[in-house]
Amino acid sequence: MSEILKGAPVAAQIRAKIAEKIEICRLKGVDPKVAIVRVGENPDDIAYEKRVKSNCEKVGLSYHVFVLDDDITQEDFEKGFADINGSADIDGILLFRPLPKHLDEEKICGMIDPKKDIDCMNPVNLNKVFNGDKDRFAPCTSEAVVEILKYYEVPIAGANAVVVNRSMVLGKPLAMLLLDENATVTVCHSKTADIKAHTKQADIVVTGVGKANFFGKEFFSEKNVVVDVGINFAEGRMTGDVDFEQAEPVVKAITPVPGGVGAVTSMILLKHAVEAAWRRVNG
Ligand code: NAP
Repeated sequence: MSEILKGAPVAAQIRAKIAEKIEICRLKGVDPKVAIVRVGENPDDIAYEKRVKSNCEKVGLSYHVFVLDDDITQEDFEKGFADINGSADIDGILLFRPLPKHLDEEKICGMIDPKKDIDCMNPVNLNKVFNGDKDRFAPCTSEAVVEILKYYEVPIAGANAVVVNRSMVLGKPLAMLLLDENATVTVCHSKTADIKAHTKQADIVVTGVGKANFFGKEFFSEKNVVVDVGINFAEGRMTGDVDFEQAEPVVKAITPVPGGVGAVTSMILLKHAVEAAWRRVNG
């Protein structure tokens, strides 16, 4: 039997720290606030917005939702966005992507004040992640993986970590965060010759291929602590990339899906917003 690394206690610990910092900020005259920027009425964006607002309410974090018309011109978007970006009482900005095709998303992401860029959309923040700078906001999912490992006291320094994903939102920044923690990191992808050979010998395996039950028991060994980042929907239910039934008896520890990384990821976003306010308070 392996240890099940649930996300809920990790998220609860982060939530408690956030609530404490919000109180201190308010005592010092700063009310931490997130700007949620949505363009149009995409149902996925609206559902995500609902979850973010509910999370904010649970921790007592203020938010303001800005809804822009989906036929807004680039020029009008930039003008409106500059006001939000420059607003002294907004600490963090969450912009829902993808933006409508007629808008220049790359340019807009580059406009986000890096100090308010809580979802790591501005390349300036990614650069900082790759440089190992501490005053940056890393992509939330990558940071959530590291938070889970730390919460469950999984040794990272000196560990062999294998990340099966090389996207800019997950695999590449996560490889940098794990390197910062002194892991030895291997990044696998769709052209890797023999993924099993890498995962079986790893101390830490992070999966993010976006394919339900892709990783059967043949990928794992008793050495592995497995963090399953994948979110897939198969036969009407949410699953990860790992075939949990097969892997769980084999590995040392594993995160479930649902109930693993996702809950922590959403809390990291709020943690970043409060961190931005904290920096405003403490200079
Ligand atoms: P992505 O950009 O599509 O990246 C998928 C990665 O998996 C790529 O690096 C790809 O390799 C690799 N891959 C695909 N098929 C493979 C195969 N057969 N063998 C080995 N590698 C393979 O996706 P993403 O945005 O990074 O997201 C990845 C997963 O994480 C998705 O399931 C997403 O829903 C989930 N996710 C979860 C959270 C959370 O909070 N839990 C947050 C964000 C995303 P190539 O580069 O060679 O194509």
